[in-house]
Amino acid sequence: MNIILLGPPGSGKGTQSTYLSSAYKLNHISTGDILRSEISDKTKLGLQAESYMNSGDLVPDNLIIEMVSKKLSLLNSVLLDGFPRTLNQAESLDNELALLEKKIDFVFYFDVPAEDLVLRLSQRISCKNCSSIFSKIDKEYICSSNCKEQILYQREDDKPEAISKRMESYISLTTPLIDFYDKKRIMININANKSILEVSKEIDGIMQS
Ligand SMILES: [Zn+2]
Repeated sequence: MNIILLGPPGSGKGTQSTYLSSAYKLNHISTGDILRSEISDKTKLGLQAESYMNSGDLVPDNLIIEMVSKKLSLLNSVLLDGFPRTLNQAESLDNELALLEKKIDFVFYFDVPAEDLVLRLSQRISCKNCSSIFSKIDKEYICSSNCKEQILYQREDDKPEAISKRMESYISLTTPLIDFYDKKRIMININANKSILEVSKEIDGIMQS
């Protein structure tokens, strides 16, 4: 089973990806993690990516796609989180998967009304030690890595002025992706404007059907 999770920042995609990868034994693939490990292993791809990052440029699509393809060729049952981000990446992913004789089974889109996302994000605080994310409306904050000293702060990109920018760029990049997967009939809209448990149950219902 290969799954893609799509959803704007603050949609709860991260939380559900942790649940899904453990409940269904899926290999969680995030481009951030792949990038970090290629760089720390000093692979050819990692060194190339690093030179872009050092000069303040975005790592180009073709490098990211190569890194993801390398992972896909090694693993069965993956959960792609935060990739693809653009239509170009989605089309390349499709080509790579076809070569490997694999396919995407489901694309889950985490749907939350824009105004709720802004509210959720502006209430987000993070631990500086372990990057655990909490909401200001929670009563207790306990880091998943049990940090002795929690240093809680609001990330720069969770501040209100940054949020609307993030949302705009997310929507303009993702709309073509949604159409792309919709046409393939593997796109599933998840009403993510519910509790974590209810969203997990909705996904379970689809996975087990
Ligand atoms: Zn922590």
